[in-house]
Amino acid sequence: MIIVPEAAIAGLVSPEASFAAVEAVFAAMSRGDARNFPVVREALPGPEEALYGFKGGVDAVGGALGLKAGGYWPHNLERRNLINHQSTVFLFDPATGKPTAMVGGNLLTALRTAAASAVSIAHLSRPDSKVLGMIGAGHQSAFQMRAAVRQRGFEKVVGWNYHPEMLSRLSDTAAELGLPFEAVDLPTLGAQADVIISITSSQAPSLMDAHVRPGTHIACMGTDTKGKQEVEAALLARARVFTDEVAQSVTIGEAQHAVGQGLIAEGDVGELGAVINGDNPGRISADDITLFDGTGVGLQDLAVASSVVERAIEAGVALDVDF
Ligand code: NAD
Repeated sequence: MIIVPEAAIAGLVSPEASFAAVEAVFAAMSRGDARNFPVVREALPGPEEALYGFKGGVDAVGGALGLKAGGYWPHNLERRNLINHQSTVFLFDPATGKPTAMVGGNLLTALRTAAASAVSIAHLSRPDSKVLGMIGAGHQSAFQMRAAVRQRGFEKVVGWNYHPEMLSRLSDTAAELGLPFEAVDLPTLGAQADVIISITSSQAPSLMDAHVRPGTHIACMGTDTKGKQEVEAALLARARVFTDEVAQSVTIGEAQHAVGQGLIAEGDVGELGAVINGDNPGRISADDITLFDGTGVGLQDLAVASSVVERAIEAGVALDVDF
């Protein structure tokens, strides 16, 4: 069994490889070659108030079988100086059931989530997109910005965050990427941005329907649980809506609200994988608003972890344990 510790991941994973792995697995899901298993998410008893769970799946063609185990320990940072999100990916040989790899999952989660919105930008945004709008300035936001700017010739980043004191993360990341950054209010962000990424833990909409102009692509990446919401439900009724997995989108994703309010039906939510495969036209006109509801699936983790294992073996840094 190959072990790739968390500390080795940064040197082994490239944005190109994460993008390719996530794009391929979305396409496989849409063809019916890969499927995610039901997600388990449980509150643990005790003073840590932790949430723990499993996200797994199988990709019959890509050869991936496994799960990501982990969750959220809200007191890790203050009590132990450890990050609050902790996860590990386990891969198995689909032919025998033998474990093949154990891979640190913390950095991988940020990279595969950023790769998902980047894949949506590559397939759904207008090719002439120039301004990137960022809503959210938490841990994920820097990864999102770095992956997004590889897809279009962005010339400027505009950003808004509920907690303005966190905006330095966005300005620092834009500077690292050589792009000008401007902190703006939400109406200005909507008026300027060609592509908007929203990645917050909000429980109420920040981006409203009236903020968004025709032709915009929006990647809603923060809503992955019942009750969370980042954009007004009416925006989904005006947009062509796509997702990683329809069942998750309408229950725990951004579409839960528009579907719950009867503004759109489950059948109005398309798969990004179908766009990748050419089975769905995706954006039809330059004036379409496209919206990607990125809920996060286990197969993304397995795909990116598999690519890390390959790189670790090639680079001669994989720890091989007789298990
Ligand atoms: P974080 O805790 O580092 O940052 C949270 C962000 O949400 C900050 O920008 C904060 O200002 C903002 N926020 C908090 N309360 C808000 C409110 N009431 N209104 C508007 N904004 C508010 O978190 P993170 O690691 O950056 O993750 C952000 C979100 O993305 C979380 O909800 C997380 O669960 C989700 N996530 C989704 C996926 C996926 O695959 N879709 C993967 C990883 C994380």
